[in-house]
Amino acid sequence: MAACALKISLNPNPNGVVLHRKYTYSFNTATFCNSSNNNPPFSFITSPNHKTSHSNRFQPTPVAEPNRVSGSDSHTFDVVIVGAGIIGLTIARHFLLESNLSVAVVDAAVPCSGATGAGQGYIWRVHKTPGSEKWELSMRSHELWEGLAESIQNQGLDPVQALGWKKTGSMLVGRTAADCSVLKSKVEQLLDAGVDAEFLSRDGLLSEEPALNLGEECGAAFIRDDSQLDARRSVAFIEKANRHFAAEGRYANFYYEPVTSLLRSESSGEIEGVQTSKYTLRSKKAVVIAAGCWSGSLMDDLIKSSEIEIDLPVKPRKGHLLVVENFKSFKLNHGLMEVGYVNHQSALDSSATSDSGTGYDANTASISMTATMDMSGRLVLGSSRQLVGFNTEIVESIIDRIWERAGEFFPTLKEVSLKDLSKSREVRVGLRPYMPGGKPVIGPVAGLSNMFIAAGHEGEGLSLALGTAEMIFNMVLGNPQEVNPAPFSLIASGLSES
Ligand SMILES: Cc1cc2nc3c(=O)[nH]c(=O)nc-3n(C[C@H](O)[C@H](O)[C@H](O)COP(=O)(O)OP(=O)(O)OC[C@H]3O[C@@H](n4cnc5c(N)ncnc54)[C@H](O)[C@@H]3O)c2cc1C
Repeated sequence: MAACALKISLNPNPNGVVLHRKYTYSFNTATFCNSSNNNPPFSFITSPNHKTSHSNRFQPTPVAEPNRVSGSDSHTFDVVIVGAGIIGLTIARHFLLESNLSVAVVDAAVPCSGATGAGQGYIWRVHKTPGSEKWELSMRSHELWEGLAESIQNQGLDPVQALGWKKTGSMLVGRTAADCSVLKSKVEQLLDAGVDAEFLSRDGLLSEEPALNLGEECGAAFIRDDSQLDARRSVAFIEKANRHFAAEGRYANFYYEPVTSLLRSESSGEIEGVQTSKYTLRSKKAVVIAAGCWSGSLMDDLIKSSEIEIDLPVKPRKGHLLVVENFKSFKLNHGLMEVGYVNHQSALDSSATSDSGTGYDANTASISMTATMDMSGRLVLGSSRQLVGFNTEIVESIIDRIWERAGEFFPTLKEVSLKDLSKSREVRVGLRPYMPGGKPVIGPVAGLSNMFIAAGHEGEGLSLALGTAEMIFNMVLGNPQEVNPAPFSLIASGLSES
């Protein structure tokens, strides 16, 4: 069948990262087969004085590219995945582990250069809503993450080192009687759904988390056996495991290769691959678009000259995260978020809907307190939400507001000036893939046979990744689904198709 390139008109640099030099990550850490090495998985270049980095700013160490197929510019795989964030990489992982199919992952930059590199790492259930359309997928994904951590353990590896996995439990904390009544209903809902949750009144909360000071009427919904992970470490582990299949010719990655067009059969209309500036990557079974917040504009460009109309309104929702290294003022025993986080996540910030990437300021950001302590003892504080286009500039006033908000929960922080922490702090900025309606799109594209989308996970991409990967895998192979995919179809999202 003849294949034709539809259009080559994409911005070759969607992330604003420097593309003139090729990098790939330098892995010097534990892999599937090696339990002894505890080194961090990435080599980052960081400023010794002022650690501020965008998720797409950190510089991986340049090394040779062992998995790049050399020689011809045209390669054929069973599945071609566009996007090497947590969604694309876990989809690749699922195909590699559960089938004999070959997989290529293509990215405009490198893993973690999108939202994934900024992720805080909570894969908790405490803030999720039983019975909601995402609930089943959340629970399945949670089960798969737990299973992965367990299988790592069973192989004699340490999930803490491999994934940054910590069973911290998760808490949704409130300060008022009204908050506590919301939290009590939340606990009941979770219990009814079979999740082992409990309500902590003030004394119980303070004995679990003594650094909190929230007045007399505070309380929390608590899930003791929830876990968190380290996004960058988990990505490194998954990518390393994927690369394991390169030796048998089943895996290749193409980094710094923005996809510029689709290959589509002139006779059948089937999607037969993608084109980058250098490579023609043919797919025998599927092309999966997992390009996070770039998926909408990418799809627009890819189908521009076809008869297909799809509006995939994924928007970048900017988030800042503050990381304080070597934090000693207090110890955080659990993962925490304020009860208002749930609305913060679902609210559409109508005051800042510009897509131009200009005109942003701290006032348009919604801030909600999330606090975790990672495996290296870093205090990680979140987070902000803004719809301000593809802008990833660090805004200091937003960092100030994140710090102040955290200080309302942990008064000790009020005694520490952020300025004094300038040498030990890092700021991460990422663009969450926000979908109006709050659900990701996971499914085939009508009219474009063999093409699938997995995008729009907003603030839950880490949490929902493994369930999403399984769903796409089952769709491509026509297998029965573990979770009903209907709520995630393009049609269910109210998007236009023809
Ligand atoms: C501050 C912050 C905190 C967060 N905390 C959490 C958390 O604790 N838990 C949680 O579950 N989620 C969290 N999230 C959300 C989570 O990070 C995202 O939902 C998730 O990373 C989305 O993954 P993705 O793979 O879809 O997108 P991305 O990670 O953005 O990856 C998309 C990839 O597509 C590539 N791409 C774009 N255009 C092209 C092209 N033309 N060709 C090829 N490749 C292309 C990009 O380079 C990028 O690598 C957080 C997000 C932020 C910003």
